[in-house]
Amino acid sequence: MPDIVLATLNAKYIHSSFGLRYLRANLGELRDRACMAEFVINQQPLEIVEALLAREPLIIGFGVYIWNVEQTTEVVALLKRIRPELIVILGGPEVSYETEGQEIVALADHVITGEADVKFAEVCRTILGGGVRPTKIISAELPTLPQLAPPYELYTDEDLKNRVIYVEASRGCPFTCEFCLSSLDIPVRAFPTDAFLASMQRLLDRGATQFKFVDRTFNLHLPTSMGILQFFLDRWREGLFLHFEMVPDRLPQQLRALIQKFPPGAVQFEVGIQTFDDATSKNISRRQNLARLEDNFRFLREETGVHIHADLIVGLPGEGIESFGRGFDRLVHLGPQEIQVGILKRLRGTPIVRHDDEFRMIYAPHPPYEILSTRDIPFADMQRMRRFARYWDIVSNSGNFTATLKLLWRDADSPFVEFLRFSDWLHARLRRTHQIALHVIAQALFDFLIEEQLVDGEIAAATLETDWHRTPSREGLNLRGRTSAVEKTAVSRLSRRQTRHAQGG
Ligand code: SF4
Repeated sequence: MPDIVLATLNAKYIHSSFGLRYLRANLGELRDRACMAEFVINQQPLEIVEALLAREPLIIGFGVYIWNVEQTTEVVALLKRIRPELIVILGGPEVSYETEGQEIVALADHVITGEADVKFAEVCRTILGGGVRPTKIISAELPTLPQLAPPYELYTDEDLKNRVIYVEASRGCPFTCEFCLSSLDIPVRAFPTDAFLASMQRLLDRGATQFKFVDRTFNLHLPTSMGILQFFLDRWREGLFLHFEMVPDRLPQQLRALIQKFPPGAVQFEVGIQTFDDATSKNISRRQNLARLEDNFRFLREETGVHIHADLIVGLPGEGIESFGRGFDRLVHLGPQEIQVGILKRLRGTPIVRHDDEFRMIYAPHPPYEILSTRDIPFADMQRMRRFARYWDIVSNSGNFTATLKLLWRDADSPFVEFLRFSDWLHARLRRTHQIALHVIAQALFDFLIEEQLVDGEIAAATLETDWHRTPSREGLNLRGRTSAVEKTAVSRLSRRQTRHAQGG
């Protein structure tokens, strides 16, 4: 039986915990006395507790994040009721800041704040060795990255086959966006490239195909980014997929040339834009060169096969719906395959709280602490935007209705205004934003196009069918009221023509 269990609740099975693997890899001589236990947030807390206690550990270390803090609190509370002598050590971003007043912190024995890769081993060593127990809140010194044991061999074959494999070549970010935890993570520190690439080679040799880089700004240090891309290009094989987060206004020519060599769909860039509004950018201390950003976007869309996932945030201090909408339209015109519309979250420890009074920023008190209203977006409008984000995900980001979407805003100046109209209309009709079958969305799009946008019934049906059959396994699309809609638009076209004739037009 292990003395130490490293546990966490992932959001989904497909997400493997990178943090746990780092902790275990760096346990030194305690490594064989430890095991990992990963769960998912929708598992019953009692089931999780049972599985943990069955291992009879002396210490359990939990990775606590914004997505699991509520469920982990419940698990820790149950554990402490059943086995009060069990030592619970917490770590992770959610307990690294503002620890006072947190229920989970009150329940735990120790909390390690900051990067705990090495500190966790040190604390376990002291406790298991019978030494003097450390204080409750333990602040971890920044580990020296070259000295960290790499976690990659702790990915099992099952992980490689079925889960996202996280990797990192650097930690930290040089920028200071106030809503982001990484803004506290200065300076950027890098792992030695040779050792990192040797780890990647071992993963490739074991059959890994999907690599998700968690580096906050992959394209910051040109020689390193190029070295990594060239490494994967040289070992290219069918099915390989690389995901990077990048700063959008930094894509020098050498990097462009290399990116162009990757086959379509093989590389995904997550591009944080967050806002196009200069005043809002200034409020949140975010620096970006919009002209360069747009030029890079055009290059990526027109001259490479990169899949772009771009992020915008609703609810930043000083930004109202109109300004957000202008930014959204600008982004739609740049043509990324996905636009993630995020609702601002107040992450513990981030400096965005300095705006609370001036911009009347009201956040939900429970995780994920989303913004409820601001000086510029009242609650009712924030709710509309929450629905907009959800429906946009279902209709656009899913890639299921690419042609239909273009029809939805046709020649209109603002895709944002048109999609917001659809979002309001859809919510009035369905009264829900989740558990909506795809054919229900298809029918709704058809009805909206006909009734509200006055699109020709034949064209609406044909466009939806094109989108629908792009996935060959789907059964035929049966649009309710299709014939009558087609007849109705024909009649309405005729009557419009007759009116024009009658007016001598
Ligand atoms: S939002 Fe991106 S660029 Fe800004 S601090 Fe966070 S990681 Fe860095």
